[in-house]
Order: sequence, then structure tokens, then C-alpha cells
Amino acid sequence: MQTTLRRIDGKGYKAYKELQHTEVHFPKYKLIIDYVQGDPFASPSKIRIIVPNSKFRMKYEWLTSKSRKIYVEDCLTRQIAKAIKRTTSNIRGSGKSGLVLIDEPGQEILERTAVTITETETIICLSIGLPANGRRINGKEAEKLFCTIIPDVMEKSIFTVEEKTIQQVMHLADQHDAIRAEMFANGWVSFIADGSILPRESGVSDRPLKNAIRFKSPIENRVTFSIPHRDEPLSGMAIPKGITLIVGGGYHGKSTLLNAIERGVYPHIDGDGREYVLTDPNAVKIRAEDGRSITSVNISPFINNLPYGADTERFSTENASGSTSQAANVVEALEAGATTLLMDEDTSATNFMIRDHRMQELVVQEKEPITPFIDKIAYLRDERDVSTILVMGGSGDYFDVCDCCIMLDEYVPFNVTEKVKNIVAKYPMSRNNTAESFGKVTDRIFLPNTIDTRKGNKQKVQTKGLHSIIMGRTTIDLSQVEQLVDPSQTRMIAEILHYVDRQGWLKRNICLKELLAQIENQIEKHGLASFSKNPTEHPGELARPRKFEIAATLNRIRHAKIK
Ligand code: ADP
Ligand code: MG
Repeated sequence: MQTTLRRIDGKGYKAYKELQHTEVHFPKYKLIIDYVQGDPFASPSKIRIIVPNSKFRMKYEWLTSKSRKIYVEDCLTRQIAKAIKRTTSNIRGSGKSGLVLIDEPGQEILERTAVTITETETIICLSIGLPANGRRINGKEAEKLFCTIIPDVMEKSIFTVEEKTIQQVMHLADQHDAIRAEMFANGWVSFIADGSILPRESGVSDRPLKNAIRFKSPIENRVTFSIPHRDEPLSGMAIPKGITLIVGGGYHGKSTLLNAIERGVYPHIDGDGREYVLTDPNAVKIRAEDGRSITSVNISPFINNLPYGADTERFSTENASGSTSQAANVVEALEAGATTLLMDEDTSATNFMIRDHRMQELVVQEKEPITPFIDKIAYLRDERDVSTILVMGGSGDYFDVCDCCIMLDEYVPFNVTEKVKNIVAKYPMSRNNTAESFGKVTDRIFLPNTIDTRKGNKQKVQTKGLHSIIMGRTTIDLSQVEQLVDPSQTRMIAEILHYVDRQGWLKRNICLKELLAQIENQIEKHGLASFSKNPTEHPGELARPRKFEIAATLNRIRHAKIK
């Protein structure tokens, strides 16, 4: 490579293309250049570094469980990211010259493509900026990048990572598995350990708030059990299946608690404050999302007799209202297999959540299309075994239907279920529930032309940050999909859309639920990279989304077609 770099030094940037698909051997690893950027300002070049496991202190025990593998890979990714930051690149040049990047994770531990450990080797995916002056190749600086900077980063990370660091994440993996097993065995939908830090630093930072009041479980919900690699048992609040209400005065920490619960579908790193907060992985946050499009969703469990006879069993709109969007979000979550729903009054449509006695007196049943959630919540529990955790500080109507009520008082939770029962007995509600069952959740089959990746004569699916996917000519807005947490998940969803289109999976006439199952199955069996166009090369910066966020994307495609 050095000879090539010296030869092309000073030539036009395109000459770098010569390096594409070349392999360079270093004493401890092999470096493969999979993609060379078109110019110094374009998105960076992609390389893989392949380290035989014999060349570093890889241990077989890293791979003895699925979570261990994911956590150790995540840990190595963070180590490399840290090493990159500590390595001062003195490479000068135009555009992205000298840049070295790895897909750095946030507070969650997700399965991602940045580092993959197999039984024989460890593969590291990096992006780099090949150096240039203006648009001319700077071969000397490129040499420095390959022969000094990258080796330096590797030396500071995977070749010197401390045993202790790896052991810590491996232990966390085992502990999370143990907590999940305990939750499953006892039917808890969420567990929040005592001492957890729930509030975040700010609205734009996912790091823990300093000097926060630590979580302390109410005695009635307190559970204690032992987990591996820890001397004293773990204690905390268990939220059992059923209907749980979170109440309390404004600004007392209700939404903060619910947010921690909704993020608990993912594991968090040590020191996050939520490392022992875990939630049913099939829990879905439901909110109002006016303006979204809806395609052929059966929202009749909640909405009937719309003005002008709009069909609510196959309801479509380009511009949903607060209540219809929230109804669709519930039904779509159930369709995808949600077993717990999470709602916050702050982001809900009032007319979807409640209707009191006085309003029932004024607006006769026939004139009101909405059956509020309160009339369906118990049927969800009893007929479909779907639990709900609901923040509602503004209305006592839900007292009648809840199994457990948690009140927050200056960020400290108290179990007030008994008090709530007394209030219900003392002030019986005069509103009446007119619903007799939840109603039907209809499976939908998306037609092939739903996923159309064509743009001109190219096929393209791109992402823009966390919240938007540009598929062909359509933009899919995911800004209200609150449990999508990492831009690499968004990129993965884009890859999945592209793949499903290329493979013609929608031509198979399968319902959404089956489509999601097939996608999950392929991830399980063949990994995230198997969705890429060139699965044996650098797959890009990808992290695993849940099936609910994949479904949410499909559900937000404007002009989707349903059979
Ligand atoms: P609510 O939903 O009850 O109105 P929030 O959950 O929005 O209240 O919390 C209000 C404020 O209190 C937020 O700024 C949040 O960061 C802060 N907060 C929440 N929990 C804690 C805590 N345990 N310690 C310190 N501050 C907290
Ligand atoms: Mg709130």
C-alpha cells in the first residue's frame, strides 16, 4: 500500500479508488478497504480491521451467552471510540481528511455492526477520511493515517483493554438476564431498582442528572432477589401485570418515571442510573400524533360513526386528529404484538383518554364517535392479557379501573392503591361504560408497492438523523416514535426496507405480523449485516431496532397500500 500511496500522491482524488477492495497486512491484524469515498467532502471511506482472536486476549467466555457477546462487543466499540478521541490526529487537509470514526453507542447497549466477535476473529468497522489537499491526494498523510494513527487507536483500545472492564460488562449482561428471568417468572412488566437515577441531565442529554433524588421503592411494591456477581440482593419496585396508574402533583416526577420505564425495554450501561431499570421488551409507548398518516387500520374498537360515514374498520387518512392517531397507535402496537402499553397524559388526547358524566349527559352516545380508552383498558387486560401503565394526574376517572396506583410525592413513589379504593367507594362514579369488549384487532397485508425505493432510475433509502427516512421519493417521519433511540437503528430500518424491496418479500402476501417475524428471524440467524447489499463488506453503521419501531415505520409510509 505504501508504494501505491507514494505513486498516487498529488494526483486527483479519484486515484484513491485504486485502494478499493485492497487488503493490507499489519503484524496484529489485517485491514480491508471496502469503500473509497468519491471526494474529500463526501461521506467517508469504509474500512474493516480484522483481528485474529489469537492476537489479543479474547476469551471464550465472552461468547457463552447472547447478551455477553452483545455487551462485550458494545464495550469494545466504546473503548475504540474513546481511543479515537484520545488520539490527536495531526493530519491536515481538506474536507474529512484524517477523520477516524466508529459508530459510537449512546446510553443503551444495542446489538450493532461496529464490532463483531466470532469464534476466530474480531471485526471492527471504521469510517475514515482519506487525506487530500484541495482535491489532490495527500499520500504522506494517508500513510500516517494507516501506519500511525489507526495502529495507535487499536493499541490504545482492543490490544490493551483491561480484563476488569470486560468482566464488568459481562457481569452486567448476566445480571440483566437474571433480572429478566425474575420478571418473567413473576409476571412483572417493569422493575426499577432502589438507588436508580431516573431524571436526565437535560431535554437534549440522555446522561443522568447530577444530584438527583435516587429512586426508592414503596414498601408494597418492593421485591428483593439475588442476582449473579453481587453480594447483597437487589431490591426495587416491581410493577405487576395489569393496570397501573401513576399519579401525583405537577412536576413531581411522573413523566420522568414513565420515560425511564419506556427506555427500560433496552439495557443501559453501568453508571447510567438506569442500569437496573428493565421493562417488558414488548412494551410500547403510545401517544397522540396528529398529522400522521394512517393506512387502513381498524380503529373501530375506539372510533365509530364518524361524520359523513367514514369507514373506521379500514380507516385511512393523510392527516389524523389527536384521538384518531392515538387510537391507531394502540391498534397498530397490538397488531405488532405489544403486551404492555405506556401512556402519559402529557402526550395524550384528552378526548381519547376520558369522558366524564357531564359530557355524557350533554353529547348523546350516538353523536360521539369515540369510545375512550378508559372503557377499553380492562378488556385489554382481561381479553388480551395486555397491561397498561398510565400517567394521569389530572383526572380520577381511572381510579375505578386500576389495579395498582403509584403516587409520586417530590420524586418519591408511594403505593396509594388502598386509598384509591376508599375514594372509589366513597364517591362512586356516575359515568357509564358502554363498551362490551375490546373489539377486533385486524391483521393487515401490505402490498408490494408500499415500499417503493425508486428515485429516478436508482433505488435509494437514506436516513436523516434519528427521525427521518427518505425512501425513494417519500419521507417517513419518525419524530413521534419515542422508543427509537439511536440513529443507527434508523439506518438499520432503512436497510431493512431496502432489503424487503429487493427480495420482494411483500409479494409473499404475508401479514405485517409475519413480515416482522421473518425480519427478526433473519436478524437472529444471520445478523444485522445480512440485510446489506454486500453482506461480506462493511455493512455501515447499524444497530438493532425492535420490531415495533420497524412496524411504526411501515405504518407511517404515506401512500402505503393494504390488501
Ligand atoms: P411531572 O410529569 O410529574 O409533571 P416530570 O417528570 O416532568 O414531572 O419532572 C419534573 C422535573 O423534575 C423535571 O425537570 C425532572 O428532570 C425533575 N426530576 C424528576 N425526577 C427527579 C429526581 N428523582 N430527582 C431530581 N429531579 C427530578
Ligand atoms: Mg408530566
